[in-house]
Amino acid sequence: MKIRDLKIYYPAFIVLITLLLFSSFAYYQAKESVTEKRIRSFENRVNGISTAINLRMLDYVQILRGCQGLFYGSDTITARDWKVYIDNLKIDEIYPGIQGIGYAKYIPSEDKVNLERNIQNSGFPQFKIQSTFKNNYLAPIIYLEPFTGRNLRAFGFDMYDDSARRDAMDRAILTGKASITSKLTLIQETGKNVQPGFLMYMPVYYDPQLVNTVEERERNIKGFVYYPFRAYDLIKNISKHYRDIQIKIYDGNLNSSNLLFDSDSLKNGEKDKITRIPEFKKIVPANVAGRTWNILISSDQIGSPMERSQPLIILMFGIILSVLFFIMIYNIIRSNSLMREELEVSKELDNKKDEFIGIASHELKTPLTSIKAYIQLLERSDLRDQDRRLVNKANSNINKLNNLIGDLLDVSKLQSGQLKLNTADFELKKMIMESVENVQHMYSSHKIIILNDIPELILSGDLLRLEQAMTNLLMNAIKYSPGVDSVYINTELLPSQVKIEIIDKGIGISKENQQRIFDRFFRAKELSPVISGLGMGLFISQEIIKRHYGKIAVESEPGKGSKFSIILPR
Ligand code: ADP
Repeated sequence: MKIRDLKIYYPAFIVLITLLLFSSFAYYQAKESVTEKRIRSFENRVNGISTAINLRMLDYVQILRGCQGLFYGSDTITARDWKVYIDNLKIDEIYPGIQGIGYAKYIPSEDKVNLERNIQNSGFPQFKIQSTFKNNYLAPIIYLEPFTGRNLRAFGFDMYDDSARRDAMDRAILTGKASITSKLTLIQETGKNVQPGFLMYMPVYYDPQLVNTVEERERNIKGFVYYPFRAYDLIKNISKHYRDIQIKIYDGNLNSSNLLFDSDSLKNGEKDKITRIPEFKKIVPANVAGRTWNILISSDQIGSPMERSQPLIILMFGIILSVLFFIMIYNIIRSNSLMREELEVSKELDNKKDEFIGIASHELKTPLTSIKAYIQLLERSDLRDQDRRLVNKANSNINKLNNLIGDLLDVSKLQSGQLKLNTADFELKKMIMESVENVQHMYSSHKIIILNDIPELILSGDLLRLEQAMTNLLMNAIKYSPGVDSVYINTELLPSQVKIEIIDKGIGISKENQQRIFDRFFRAKELSPVISGLGMGLFISQEIIKRHYGKIAVESEPGKGSKFSIILPR
């Protein structure tokens, strides 16, 4: 395709580009709003999970305060009291996943034998303090509920012997508040499915009133109520409603050695784990009983798949629509241009035809004129009656041929705009009467009846051309009313016009054909073989009347006849 040909398709390309631009704009808008929405829901999740963790840890602190209160209510809390109290808390029902709740007594190392003996005598003959005894103080676990399974391994374990636990206990004594250890492995772990763990301590003093200063608290410390936590059991339970985010919890810095919990390691399928850089990521610090945890939350799956693919769907839809529109407009332009080309070709053919008609009729006219002259010479000569009849017949046929060629020449002149009018004043009556005479002379089969007095009126125009139009209409009236013996003329004077009606009681014209009879070369199909003609008369008549600023109209009913009216300005 040449550039020139392509040019006509520019509107289609402009529409395509505009729609594509619009689609990409809609895509970016949708993407922005979806991203904004996803950021908001990610923030909601971040807030949700960090609040849930903080609140849960506060709940544990509160529960430990309750345990602390138990000791403040009585000096003689036994293992049985502890069991009843802890059972009654029904913690496992509210917060499943807790390893247990225990009590460790804080004693100077020299009291070790005494303590062992007391516990053994209270119904636990196998009780033994498990310690290296390298410190001056011991904190052996003496109560632990539920007192079953892996918890039995911790019974008698001296927590003060271990540095991480000792640090947390010392902090609890110093602050008088709950305190958690750094990441460690619980004594309860059996070696299978080992999880990172930590403990939360709440100090218990001999006298709850004497805890105002560090010294008072150091002197007054009696023991610790505590929780052993297995990190995965704990966090898994808190985060179970947050499946579309990854949660990692670090005890302190974001080092893998500090990793307390990683939600990815709970997933079975490798494909669920984030291996690339996640779309959303946030680190939220949480202060948990004296230590700072860093919660790293990340996600790729915020928002429903439908919501996430919405911008892409919009883009695809936009592209498809743009292309469809482009194809549609392209095709419209293509068929238009083909039609225009066809029209140009047919116009060219039409012009050639008109040119041919013009030349042919001109060429025919010249020899015909000389034949007519010879016939006239013959007419004037002394002829026998029989010969004169033959010459008259020849003359009348030459007249018909002459009229036909005249019509052809007129059509060609009208087409090329060369039909000139010789305008002058003339009498209307004379024009009508001459036409009537002309036609009556040619056709004796019908009588032309003038219905009323023709007004005495001087008009301005080309008398011969107007006579030609009148003659045409009268000849048609006769031609298309076979088997009838009269046609009629009616004239009517209007305020500024004059109307001439030519009426016949002939075959009439269908409504459909009435629209087309003034077209060049139009003939009603049904009559063509019966009545001869070329479909030029009405076309020429209409053009002549139009050039006189007049109007020509038809009223007709098939089978009943027709009425042609000429209206001329006065
Ligand atoms: P032609 O008479 O040579 O066919 P015209 O242009 O004079 O051409 O007329 C066009 C057509 O109009 C005719 O073929 C005919 O079908 C219809 N027509 C014209 N005058 C009459 C009439 N008076 N009655 C019925 N049909 C007519």
